[in-house]
Amino acid sequence: MRLVMVGSGYVGLVSGVCFADFGHDVVCVDKDPAKIARLKNGEVPIFEPGLDTMLEANMRAGRLSFTTDLTEAARDADAIFIAVGTPTRRGDGHADLTYVYEATREIAVLAAENAVIVTKSTVPVGTGDEVERILREFRPGANISVVSNPEFLREGAAIEDFKRPDRIVIGTDSDHARYVMTEIYRPLYINQGPLLFVSRRTSELIKYAANAFLAMKITFINEMADLCEKLDADVQDVARGIGLDNRIGAKFLHAGPGYGGSCFPKDTLALVKTAQDAKSPTRLIETVVEVNGRRKKRMAEKIIAACGGSVAGKRIAVLGLAFKPNTDDMRDAPALDIIPALQAAGAEVIAYDPESMEQARQVLNIGFAEGPYDCIEGADALVIITEWNAFRALDLKRVKASLKSPVVVDLRNIYRPQEMKALGFTYHGIGRGA
Ligand code: NAD
Repeated sequence: MRLVMVGSGYVGLVSGVCFADFGHDVVCVDKDPAKIARLKNGEVPIFEPGLDTMLEANMRAGRLSFTTDLTEAARDADAIFIAVGTPTRRGDGHADLTYVYEATREIAVLAAENAVIVTKSTVPVGTGDEVERILREFRPGANISVVSNPEFLREGAAIEDFKRPDRIVIGTDSDHARYVMTEIYRPLYINQGPLLFVSRRTSELIKYAANAFLAMKITFINEMADLCEKLDADVQDVARGIGLDNRIGAKFLHAGPGYGGSCFPKDTLALVKTAQDAKSPTRLIETVVEVNGRRKKRMAEKIIAACGGSVAGKRIAVLGLAFKPNTDDMRDAPALDIIPALQAAGAEVIAYDPESMEQARQVLNIGFAEGPYDCIEGADALVIITEWNAFRALDLKRVKASLKSPVVVDLRNIYRPQEMKALGFTYHGIGRGA
């Protein structure tokens, strides 16, 4: 199959590279010339484990190419995927569909007869209808279908998720589109893949429902963590105790500073807005959004309290800036709420992150260290915001010797309170007793 990805960011690029790896001919398009120039050189502009070698191998095999110009690529494509960003619209919380509709107009003029246009971006219910309406404006009578195929990959594990997804949701009522989509995903499985065919609007909603549910699970355990602090219980044990129940499941039960990242915050908010517009408000998700927003702000207060009630003139070492490990993505990362609040309270912040510092420099005005120990040296407190593997087995004796005062605020619970106490730290985790 000949496939075109419009938008070569985290989703478009990973999808494009993985499709090529399964033998399809893929052209990845992006309107950012700097991004395309780097990709043409075999350089991956984002950090995603394993993506660089797979990209290089598929470019060498002649199955994967990059361009800023859709014209040539679209001409004989069987399917054109829209994988552009759908950020929060300024002012009202709805998803901003400007990029999706812009891409649609470009594709509408160029798509071949019988092509399938696939929306991979996360888009509110009804967006596929509007994409189709725009298409018909340009190409009345053309035999081109518009399909919804939301993406469920996680940054940091994107290749594995893309190649072995739990399910592939496809929203269409066209037989031809169904055939094309089945052919596109067929190589991923020797036996039959977990394809779920539904209506286009249902498919669009499934993506939001999935993200909202996961965000709710995180928020649930975060509230349990707060309760644990009041009742002298341990949230790690609560999470294990409920997570071993198959009806609940152990995933997404890690208490922390509140969910962030490029999807959950914007998608929960967009779902809330969609539901309000439809006069069927999702009270549960409205509360999740509110509770999570407050939580991220409260984390700075927790750190200040751990520092004796004031951070004025103090130096705070921060380990981890990205919204989660194994990505360089800083979009809506909890660090972006926590660090400015510490600075506003008079702290000097120095941080280290294995991959996100280049992106962080654009949004945070702080000092950057070259490694974890360098970061900690002479600091009044250590705060762990992201649970990178590299921070999970620090030489704690060295950490203690480097800190000016042995205060550790571990927002990801990667260390054990008793052990930290035995080593002489004043240790603050999340939901780990009184
Ligand atoms: P991104 O910002 O990393 O990438 C979007 C890319 O599209 C950018 O490189 C931009 O230059 C390009 N672009 C915009 N308009 C274009 C146009 N008209 N022609 C060509 N290129 C254009 O975004 P992302 O994180 O890959 O997310 C894309 C979509 O996928 C969003 O709707 C998001 O919600 C969804 N999604 C993201 C993830 C994730 O983990 N990042 C997971 C699942 C779904």
